[in-house]
Amino acid sequence: MPFRTSPFGQLPDGRAVAAFDLTNAQGLQARVTDYGATLVSLLAPDRSGQMADITLGRDNLAGYLEGTPYFGATVGRFANRIAGAGFTLDGAEYRLAANNGAHSLHGGIHGFHCALWTAEAADTHEGPAVRFGLRSPDGEEGYPGNLDVTVTYTLTHADELRIDYRATTDRATPINLTNHAYWNLAGEAAGPILDHELQIFAKRYTPVDDTLIPTGVIAPVAGTPYDFTRPMAIGARIAQVPGGGYDLNYVLDNLNGTLVTAARVADPRAGRMLEILTTEPGIQFYSGNFLKDTPGKGGRLYQNHGAFCLEAQRYPDSVHYPVFPSVVLRPGQTYRQTTVHRFLVA
Ligand code: BGC
Repeated sequence: MPFRTSPFGQLPDGRAVAAFDLTNAQGLQARVTDYGATLVSLLAPDRSGQMADITLGRDNLAGYLEGTPYFGATVGRFANRIAGAGFTLDGAEYRLAANNGAHSLHGGIHGFHCALWTAEAADTHEGPAVRFGLRSPDGEEGYPGNLDVTVTYTLTHADELRIDYRATTDRATPINLTNHAYWNLAGEAAGPILDHELQIFAKRYTPVDDTLIPTGVIAPVAGTPYDFTRPMAIGARIAQVPGGGYDLNYVLDNLNGTLVTAARVADPRAGRMLEILTTEPGIQFYSGNFLKDTPGKGGRLYQNHGAFCLEAQRYPDSVHYPVFPSVVLRPGQTYRQTTVHRFLVA
């Protein structure tokens, strides 16, 4: 059976939430839910064929309703921060909810991560897929325009989890979508990922201030602890990074929307590898710095550096920096993004 649907829980207003289990020809399994168009689990083999769930999350809807740090969720309308929780577009000023100090983070209080999406499952020639859909109404969380979004997860028979995003609007709006999966290639319960070897195919990054807002500069990674142009253990230089670990946007050499390899991560113990390819010009590397005692699956409490995130996206706070790639979607245009997670063993 390439896919199976089961109940995942009920929202306080009575609406039913479903889980979709996708299985590919090799036996990889992904579970997604229409609550937040969220990736709930991903089962992949290690070098001896042992399967483990390699993404952090909760067991059921009730867990997600308690609030999570965006485990596996689709983040929107605007991933990462908008400084001062406001922006000006075409001469009009827009105010957003400040949910991260003075800033707006990950689409605001009721972002896409906590919306109930429509869902349509299909067995495609590439592999089982679920397409989630959402209309974000004009003014939602302060953003202009009715925005129609689809997010399609396909678990391909080539052992990839591909996420395709599309959006259209009836008024100009900023948009920056991403998936916020937390990965631990040794298994979601395995503890710190500091021994995972990471390579990021980016020579530059966007430095931030101490509230994680870009300064507007694009700086070289060479000579800094942010340089992952060659594979390096995540923990090797983490003590030199202010703020308890990595939380920064890398600039990919990808301004024309072609699919490029952005990052590669390997767990030396289990031999699982993850490669991320994207059409986006940036990727946020976050080393799980704020995970301490966060409730997870099976009653576990996750700890700092219990997972890493690599979130393909436009640069944080781009609405305030004309030099960054544009984040404005206008009527008649289609926002498109493809990000591929390729699972391998070494
Ligand atoms: C951000 C972090 C934030 C985390 C969870 C990441 O995308 O870069 O600063 O703590 O999401 O919200």
